[in-house]
Amino acid sequence: MALGEFELIARYFSGINGSSIRGSSSNNKTTSAIDLSVGDDCALLTPPPGQQLAISVDTLVADVHFPANGDAYFVAQKALRCNLSDLAAMGAEPLAFTLALSLPESDEAWLSAFSRGLYDCASEFKIPLIGGDTTRNPVTTITIQVIGTLPSGAALLRSGAKIGDAIYVSGTLGDARAALDYLSLPLVALNDKQRLCLKRYYLPSPRIALGIALRGIAHAAIDISDGLAADLGHILERSSLASQHPLGAEIDLVKLPLSSALQHHAQGSEFALSGGDDYELCFTVPQRNKNKIAQVAQSLSLPLTEIGTITEGSTLMARNAEGLLQPIEQSGYKHFSNI
Ligand code: ADP
Ligand code: MG
Repeated sequence: MALGEFELIARYFSGINGSSIRGSSSNNKTTSAIDLSVGDDCALLTPPPGQQLAISVDTLVADVHFPANGDAYFVAQKALRCNLSDLAAMGAEPLAFTLALSLPESDEAWLSAFSRGLYDCASEFKIPLIGGDTTRNPVTTITIQVIGTLPSGAALLRSGAKIGDAIYVSGTLGDARAALDYLSLPLVALNDKQRLCLKRYYLPSPRIALGIALRGIAHAAIDISDGLAADLGHILERSSLASQHPLGAEIDLVKLPLSSALQHHAQGSEFALSGGDDYELCFTVPQRNKNKIAQVAQSLSLPLTEIGTITEGSTLMARNAEGLLQPIEQSGYKHFSNI
């Protein structure tokens, strides 16, 4: 690499743990947990008393998860946002993240845009970069590990759904899937609705505040990365195992929340049901807590839509506009499905 490894780290990945990010956090208890950041052999954290760490890691591979020639600013934003969404789904609060980067060359224009995207997202969600690894590899890969905190025992699990629970989703669904159809078109060729979908694809909104608010209210939660049908399927699978009782669900297709961009789209509800990359939360709530969900929606100014119910039996059923109830496939994107 033209730029040395240490110079590269110092120039692009050392300011993303600035004291401004830590100092401006509203929760000093959590952010003071970082004792040592980038520069030594390890970072050091002291988990706050009574808190658990929530840890998740994801790798993005060029031309599998993002176009190799895509704008590095948005690639960085999306990479960190997707990971933050996993923390949101557990009800965890962001604490810190690490970054392992493999690059074919030290392309400074790319690194500079990538580092800016990371910085903007890290600042917005008050999550400092505390370490990582930098290597050379023919294909660009980006591995981000996020670490969050939550009061011990308060995590929202996939396995907590119970028969009779109401099923909710946050925000709107399907926009990111719609964007896939015009990812390769130049921005000037897109209308306002298409741009809105593109923004949702590149800048998903990890629902951190919602996850925290759902602690003690929701029985189960997951973030929608593979599509509602697939991810609700994961809740059913894990909750069936945990309760040793087959669980299914009935959802109403007409209730799936669509943005203005998809309301009159021919495939709107299909995209909302099966399209991935939305990073909204799907969660289940005992009937007695539904009024609390209405309060959470109001306090966060975030639509939370009831779309169905957890049922007995192991099928996921969807009711169409004509009232016909049909089983649907819980398939999502599977990397190894063709092996
Ligand atoms: P070591 O050889 O001990 O693993 P490295 O040379 O890989 O150390 O890294 C030196 C320091 O720079 C470490 O503190 C490491 O966490 C940090 N670092 C390396 N790459 C990155 C990166 N892409 N982003 C953030 N920190 C990084
Ligand atoms: Mg290393």
